[in-house]
Amino acid sequence: MRKNFLPFSRPQITEADLAAVNAVLRSGWITTGRECLALEEEAAAAISTQGAVAVSSATGGMHIALSALGIGPGDEVITPSLTWVSTPNLITLAGARPVWAEVDRDNLMTTAELVAPLITERTKAIIPVHFAGAPANMDPLRALASKHKLFLLEDAAHALGAAYQGRPIGAEGTAIFSFHPIKNITTGEGGLISSDNPELLERLRRLRFHGLGQDAFDREQQGRRPQAQVLEPGYKYNLTDMAAALGRSQLARLQDMNARRARLAGLYLERLAGIPELRPLTPPPWTHTHAWHLFIVRLLRDDLGRDEFMERLKQRNIGTGLHFLAAHTHTWYRQKEKTHTRLPDTEWNSQRILSLPLFPDMTEDDLNDVITAIKDALTRKK
Ligand SMILES: *Cc1c(COP(=O)(O)O)cnc(C)c1O
Repeated sequence: MRKNFLPFSRPQITEADLAAVNAVLRSGWITTGRECLALEEEAAAAISTQGAVAVSSATGGMHIALSALGIGPGDEVITPSLTWVSTPNLITLAGARPVWAEVDRDNLMTTAELVAPLITERTKAIIPVHFAGAPANMDPLRALASKHKLFLLEDAAHALGAAYQGRPIGAEGTAIFSFHPIKNITTGEGGLISSDNPELLERLRRLRFHGLGQDAFDREQQGRRPQAQVLEPGYKYNLTDMAAALGRSQLARLQDMNARRARLAGLYLERLAGIPELRPLTPPPWTHTHAWHLFIVRLLRDDLGRDEFMERLKQRNIGTGLHFLAAHTHTWYRQKEKTHTRLPDTEWNSQRILSLPLFPDMTEDDLNDVITAIKDALTRKK
């Protein structure tokens, strides 16, 4: 058995990352300033879009995006139930209602066909998820959103470096990325909203920091002039320069780190071909670049539950993740449902999915240990 525990994810932190953060710590200016601006410019360039707003988490970014869209009581927002709970939580806290969209059974992403029947006169926005690092089928979703004049807000937390039909995710429209430690690049905690809409970007910048006017931002002094005015009540979701410096250093390695993830994913696919009880997700048929944020499999065994299987792997020193338990099955949402929601493909997956270890510093030996442990856990009890 493997000697030490293999986590399902671990951030890659290099000497260059340490030096970048160290330089900020020694500089005399550690909160939002030059590093943050530079991260926004570099990320917008990498994504090929107009601009970006760095935030303290993707969740904070989602909060100000929903706020900028004016989502409130009486509104409905369509989002898959198979997403991170922050999205339905924020929709609910805004006084609106999350309307659950079903997902494709084999790539876990929602589609225009699945969303269309859910649209009502109360619908304000659609929030699809680029699941596990593969892009959702955006052309039909964009056409649907524009036909009904709905805002399309892309949850791109898994998709930094992913591309759809040859264009980076985030190049068109508005997308929210996460820099949480398990994501493809990290700032400790952090996130970024990319958009091709300059007015929206300005509004998001304002809502990110107390609602203060951007014109008051002083590049030389790195802060706002003390006379800055509140233009509307805002929040406090700015990213520190310590975090942004780490993000810039990481962003410079994004292609290399994603290539390493793709190589490991390819090896998993090869090795798992001989284990029919574990079915990986199917990469979508449209032209794409996969960011391989997660390597998800479904456990197909009537006599062995997913949770028990995860426990057996843990006993064999292999960590796993669960992305995600369907939001509509969480206690609060279940109790609040007036009519029983039926999302067969979401529920089928929610009961069977688990995420195998996948991170840039993982070795081929680590991956072989995972496969060995899987075979053992499938055949032997305990
Ligand atoms: C991680 C994640 C988020 C939230 O990101 P934070 O930066 O932790 O707030 C949102 N949506 C999805 C799909 C995620 O995986």
